[in-house]
Amino acid sequence: MPTPFSHAAVGFAIGAWTAPAPPSTRACVAAAACAALPDIDVLWSSGLPHSSPFAHRALTHSVLFALCAAVAVAAIFFRNERWHASPTRMALVLGLALLSHSFLDALSSYSLGIAFFAPFSEHRFRFPWTPLGRPAGMIVSQLMLESLLVFLPALLIAWLGWRIRSRRAVPAASA
Ligand SMILES: [Zn+2]
Repeated sequence: MPTPFSHAAVGFAIGAWTAPAPPSTRACVAAAACAALPDIDVLWSSGLPHSSPFAHRALTHSVLFALCAAVAVAAIFFRNERWHASPTRMALVLGLALLSHSFLDALSSYSLGIAFFAPFSEHRFRFPWTPLGRPAGMIVSQLMLESLLVFLPALLIAWLGWRIRSRRAVPAASA
């Protein structure tokens, strides 16, 4: 299963490429935190049946949660225009980061899948291709595979986004 580090790296990359330019640390860190947030359900989901909306990979991994959390975080942390971000734009960025978590999880065979439409439907979804599953319980090989497929590419993409969009924004910012 994808680790919080991989989720956060993907979120940071989303922030670097989609937040208003130049990408700010605040926007990218918020996107990284949002991308890791859905796994907060491990705090209370132990022992719950998979049919429960509060089970692991259920409500906090749903589209509804992504929408609500994105709007809430944007309203709380990005109200002020001095962050070069409108709340609406940042809500979209953060929503994308939140949804990236569920889609990454759906690339793993760990658990029954993702309840994208909780609490309206308890149906679990998973992609036919699950490279981030548990290869015979080998945690080291799992982490290496995840690093190669997700973590390192996300870091590279984040770095590129940060550099390219910061440079492009320099003339406009100094004008
Ligand atoms: Zn998750």
